[in-house]
Amino acid sequence: MSLLIVGSVAFDAIETPFGKTDKIIGGAASYIALAASNFTKRAKLVAVVGEDFPQTFINHLQSCSVNTEGLQIKKGEKSFFWSGKYHTDMNTRDTLITELNVLENFDPIIPESYQDCEYLMLGNLAPKVQQTVIERLTKRPKLIVMDTMNFWMEIAMDDLRKTISMVDVLTINDEEARQLSGEYSLVKAAAKIQAMGPKYLIIKKGENGALLFHGKEVFFAPALPLEEVFDPTGAGDTFAGGFIGYLAKTDDVSFDNMKNAIIYGSAMASFCVEKFGTERLVDLKEEELNARINSFRNLVRFNLASV
Ligand code: AMP
Repeated sequence: MSLLIVGSVAFDAIETPFGKTDKIIGGAASYIALAASNFTKRAKLVAVVGEDFPQTFINHLQSCSVNTEGLQIKKGEKSFFWSGKYHTDMNTRDTLITELNVLENFDPIIPESYQDCEYLMLGNLAPKVQQTVIERLTKRPKLIVMDTMNFWMEIAMDDLRKTISMVDVLTINDEEARQLSGEYSLVKAAAKIQAMGPKYLIIKKGENGALLFHGKEVFFAPALPLEEVFDPTGAGDTFAGGFIGYLAKTDDVSFDNMKNAIIYGSAMASFCVEKFGTERLVDLKEEELNARINSFRNLVRFNLASV
């Protein structure tokens, strides 16, 4: 099934306890598209970059069968730039710089050939832009998944609530779920957020895994314990790309299949953190992904008879 991906395509500069990068390729939609391309060859990108953005990465996306017809390149303008520094525990980070540049006036134009999309992934972007994308689709997709972050809660809460009310699945991290709901308990937070609109809520907890809420049902997927965690940037987006990519591939949006999708999303994210930026995702092999899915199986399998 075809998948429309919207989000930032950007430059990042990252500092972790293990090293520091100058400007490297980043952006929510870059990670989402790379992850999703492992599951569907029908991913279509809507994003904007400046003239400074390397054509080599766009070529790479195309070589992964990501359609870039909807990627706007703005002459004489600069790409979105984000810089972050991780704390020693790598679970938390400070945003040092957010330069919106081309994102400031981003008008998400949907090419006619994208109108058939059945799955929509709204990666991190201004909520108003995410909303515009939904409104510009002539047919509502079968599933709309949305990611967001605290930045938008601080400067665009009204728009954010409106967009949240229009989607099926919201993915946010635990800190953001607490900020959005005003509840410390994630169970109470999940109930409040579902009441805002999304029937499904995924709360990402970094190295502590992810929770999927749907009504009174909850599913938990651990994160794989890894020997090397180098750079968590993009892990959430990679997770989202794996999650929706798997759903688009299997074309089954039941709660049970979403559990499988969460395991695939977690497996994809486990690769992302092993190297800086998108480096580990660009040449990922199918065998490596399958091996990791098996590691997840072994991690949670036990033989206790039911009591
Ligand atoms: P994650 O680590 O999954 O939260 O995602 C990190 C990515 O999000 C980086 O590659 C950034 O370029 C991108 N990003 C950070 N802030 C924003 C923002 N305000 N809007 C859009 N993308 C952002």
